[in-house]
Amino acid sequence: MSYKCLRCQKSFTARQALCEDWRDPEKSVGCPHCGLFQKQDLRPNLQQSILIGVMSGGIATPAVFLIGRGFSSADTLLLFYGVVILISCAAALMLSVRN
Ligand SMILES: [Zn+2]
Repeated sequence: MSYKCLRCQKSFTARQALCEDWRDPEKSVGCPHCGLFQKQDLRPNLQQSILIGVMSGGIATPAVFLIGRGFSSADTLLLFYGVVILISCAAALMLSVRN
């Protein structure tokens, strides 16, 4: 995760950032270039959440459908595909949320 300083416009990573008090969100992220502390925005931006929503909906729905078809026709291959798609979808979601 990287930040961009509001004053000098230089970017820096969380590891490079100055930290005065990690419990205070207004003092936990400081610019290492000019020393300006800026409020940390913990929420993912809206565009990213919409993208994640569309992605998970578009992938999870056919996967659930595959599992349903696998159960009703006793086709273990369909069942397997559905489970694999759901697991990889969940893993991708977890990774994108952590970043
Ligand atoms: Zn700065």
